[in-house]
Amino acid sequence: MSQLVQLTGIARLAAQGDRLEEKRHVEYRTLPTRKWLNRCQSGRVPFDWTVNPYRGCEFGCKYCYARYTHEFMERREPTAFETEIYAKDWDTSEFRRELQSVKPAQTIAIGTATDPYQPAERRFERTRRVLETLSGIRGISIYVTTKSDLVSRDASLFATLSKDNDVRITVTVTTVDRELARLTEPMAPRPDLRLKAVAKLAAAGVMVGVIASPVLPMITDSRENLANVAQAAKTAGASYFCAGVLFLKPSAQRVFFPFLAEKFPQHLARYQKSYLAGAYLKGTYPERIRQMVSEVREQAGIQPREFFRPFVPAPTDSQLLLFP
Ligand code: SF4
Repeated sequence: MSQLVQLTGIARLAAQGDRLEEKRHVEYRTLPTRKWLNRCQSGRVPFDWTVNPYRGCEFGCKYCYARYTHEFMERREPTAFETEIYAKDWDTSEFRRELQSVKPAQTIAIGTATDPYQPAERRFERTRRVLETLSGIRGISIYVTTKSDLVSRDASLFATLSKDNDVRITVTVTTVDRELARLTEPMAPRPDLRLKAVAKLAAAGVMVGVIASPVLPMITDSRENLANVAQAAKTAGASYFCAGVLFLKPSAQRVFFPFLAEKFPQHLARYQKSYLAGAYLKGTYPERIRQMVSEVREQAGIQPREFFRPFVPAPTDSQLLLFP
């Protein structure tokens, strides 16, 4: 029996994809896609739908929580997530059809399991296709999270979408220390470039914030580090700042623990002990970080994300119009 016959579901679709291009150690493939829009009903997250234009992420953050998504495709090598990037096959009319399921005031989050502005986006522009198609919709929330300055390429598109929707772009900056960022987020753009993108988006009138998640215990959790990020966010024109403590699933531990052993061996045993009981830390530590984030935010004069209620334009008819 061939390997293709043995594979099922997403693993089978991944195996059927065509090889698009190869760049250094990264291989790009297409991914036949049944659905672009995925319903999300987890109480942990503030959105109703997710869109992930790619599978895998070339930025290769050592703590990345999304590595498990490659396991669905039977790609279990820890580094496959960052070296085999899948660009989902695009079909505008199919995506428009899927969007008919989105109700007024619901939220679509773009980039929850992969960075929508990773290097692949320069070549394949799948995220841009999504946004262009969304420009026919009004009365919803559109949230984008990224670690890439490429997001500022779409500033005018976001500004247009913001006229009829609640649009929020959140740029991740875990530290302003370039060397530290290079260790933990080796292929992501430098923190100062990300902050420049924040400034460009803010100047274009787009609501943009900075998130310093994940806060890495004993690595990025100092008051000084978080205060520096909050201040840099404020200076760049961000509207909000937030941060939460690292959660570490087993698939992420397989990369993060060897990284700690190499770069921060003094912390390894405490991490292993602390995350033994589960992916989320409990007790006084997360509460202490919550408090610290609140204090540095106040000190920098910047709001929390929840401060801004979703802006949803008034309905023009009995209900908001999708693709009027
Ligand atoms: S940018 Fe996000 S999705 Fe990409 S590797 Fe880093 S944490 Fe994972």
